[in-house]
Amino acid sequence: MSYTCYQCGKTYREDQLILECTCGGYLKAPERAIRKQDIITQDPTLWRYRKALPIGENDPVISLGEGLTPLVKTNFGGLFFKADSLMPTGSFKDRGAALVISHLKKLGIKKVINDSSGNSAAAYAAYCAAAGLECHIFTPASTSVGKLVQIQMYGAKVTKVAGARDQVTLAAKAEAEKQVGQAVYAGHNTHPLFPEGCKTVAYEIWEQLGWGVPDNIVVPFGGGSAMLGMYKGFRELVSVGEIPHMPRIFVIQAHSCNPLYSLFVGKEESAQCVPGLAEGISIAKPIKKVEAIAAVRQTGGTVEEVSEGEIIEALREASRAGFYVEPTTAATVAGALRLQKTGVIRSAEKTVVLLTGNGLKATDKIGQAMGLV
Ligand SMILES: [Zn+2]
Repeated sequence: MSYTCYQCGKTYREDQLILECTCGGYLKAPERAIRKQDIITQDPTLWRYRKALPIGENDPVISLGEGLTPLVKTNFGGLFFKADSLMPTGSFKDRGAALVISHLKKLGIKKVINDSSGNSAAAYAAYCAAAGLECHIFTPASTSVGKLVQIQMYGAKVTKVAGARDQVTLAAKAEAEKQVGQAVYAGHNTHPLFPEGCKTVAYEIWEQLGWGVPDNIVVPFGGGSAMLGMYKGFRELVSVGEIPHMPRIFVIQAHSCNPLYSLFVGKEESAQCVPGLAEGISIAKPIKKVEAIAAVRQTGGTVEEVSEGEIIEALREASRAGFYVEPTTAATVAGALRLQKTGVIRSAEKTVVLLTGNGLKATDKIGQAMGLV
């Protein structure tokens, strides 16, 4: 099997340390097949689906017990919450990090560099710690204190970068170039194995619904790993006939940073990206936006945006129902509630909202937003 460049179509062998195409485009792993009988049912982690993951049958993996998070039916208009907020580091990014770090460890890499607004940084730092690898994280200066502490407690080095989000990426890549041969840049927004880990959330939902497919999926959108992972997982299930059709995929952005929404509604020139509560999806130039919009349209879903006020209200409502989530996740909940109010999603339908991150990571920001500290 090989990786394919999304931009120019060039292919690369999967077992090489290739992070992007020579044309600058990002690489995609091929689709794989998973069937009920392939699942290693005694393994209570996402590695139960390793038949569909790009890792050899006998290759060692770095695991902290990630995956198989609860799918909870709530009293929010019958919405199902997929609680990836309960992952080992508190966010769904552990799915991608487990794959990427296992792969880099196998290739003999000693030091990993990533750029992140927090959750994938914590995930990379944790899995590097478990793998015995060095980790250097570049974060925006505005990242939550809780996340910065968590990243450093795993032993990673942190460099804060002022300015726009893409400056953080450039700083991380520049550092990797200075250390060629010793360190690799493995940014989660472009590494081809990151979505491979994220796709397992779709398999879990399928399994937890009794081999069913939900009518609707609601996910946040920053760089696209949750959404494109979800899309790929369900596509693979459709392609082998395990489910009859795709769910509709609805993608939520915050109005404060809405490049995908603006592109979707044909008003790209009015896109903005200013600091807001939903820091996890504050990415001004998502490189996978074209692929993401095509995927959303193919499923019959839409891209929505929510206001800061809606995020705060959803944060309050979710917490009062027992779900303490970070503001980025509250934006997703707010989007789902709006889709129900406008009748796009009906309460009789099976709708799964992905809870991407735990509220404990953002207690400082939540406390300030609610006037509690
Ligand atoms: Zn290319």
